[in-house]
Amino acid sequence: MGINRREFLRLAGLSTLLGLGGKTAFELLAPGQLEAQTYAPEPNALKAKRWAMVIDMRKMDEKTAQKCMNACHLTHNVPNIAQPKEAVAGVSPEDQNRFRIKWLWTEDFHNAFPGDEHANLAEKLHHMKFPVLCNHCDNPPCVRVCPTQATFRRPDGMVMMDMHRCIGCRYCMAACPFGARSFNWKDPRPYLKEVNMNYPTREIGVVEKCTFCDERVAKGQLPACVEASGGAMVFGDLADPKSKVRELLRANFTLRRKAHLGSNPQVYYIV
Ligand code: SF4
Ligand code: SF4
Ligand code: SF4
Repeated sequence: MGINRREFLRLAGLSTLLGLGGKTAFELLAPGQLEAQTYAPEPNALKAKRWAMVIDMRKMDEKTAQKCMNACHLTHNVPNIAQPKEAVAGVSPEDQNRFRIKWLWTEDFHNAFPGDEHANLAEKLHHMKFPVLCNHCDNPPCVRVCPTQATFRRPDGMVMMDMHRCIGCRYCMAACPFGARSFNWKDPRPYLKEVNMNYPTREIGVVEKCTFCDERVAKGQLPACVEASGGAMVFGDLADPKSKVRELLRANFTLRRKAHLGSNPQVYYIV
């Protein structure tokens, strides 16, 4: 083939979007040639039938949330593209916010849980900053709309990204009701203060998001945010009744973000 893998995917993906036979183009390739990339599990890999996360807001304050965000973003080479306070070249700070790349960030209650608000909400909820991330939904709309299978759901529930398959169409961003995906409008590399050489950097024109630290789980490590959280974030197997996540869910009232939309999020919040 006279074109590289990503160029092929871009053409096949666009032809799929336009209804011009892109599926046939995918089928022309030998089996396995375009399989999405993921980390091969090492012998000590953590395993689960269904990964899930519980965030215990009784143990989460702003300092802890910041530690978790730093851990995630340093581990995964997420660039720090700060939102400017003033307009630049006629573009408002709000509009420039689209340049921001975020895998883990914080939201107020009314942004994190809009369907769960009411006039007599507990006072403490108005003062909390909720760490939010991709919910690794059981029924992920982002996966359904992706024309190249750059985003896909693993059997253990992780919703993954293969940056090499991403053609930057941003359909997944429109489909995700949580704002969990960011698009690289600029080359992210100049915005990295430090580079973790053990994790790839991205390029302009691809979407990225939290991957539940699949690369660490494949090596037997907990997600970086969980490790940094001092027990406020718990990761485990929802299918195992003896797991810590199941224990916490049994013993506490929990919320999920925008559960009414039907994507079935798998990040739970103890409030
Ligand atoms: S939170 Fe958004 S990006 Fe993550 S799986 Fe759900 S729909 Fe997809
Ligand atoms: S931008 Fe999203 S929908 Fe488009 S190819 Fe990339 S992952 Fe798939
Ligand atoms: S699970 Fe991993 S990728 Fe996701 S927010 Fe936590 S540290 Fe980041």
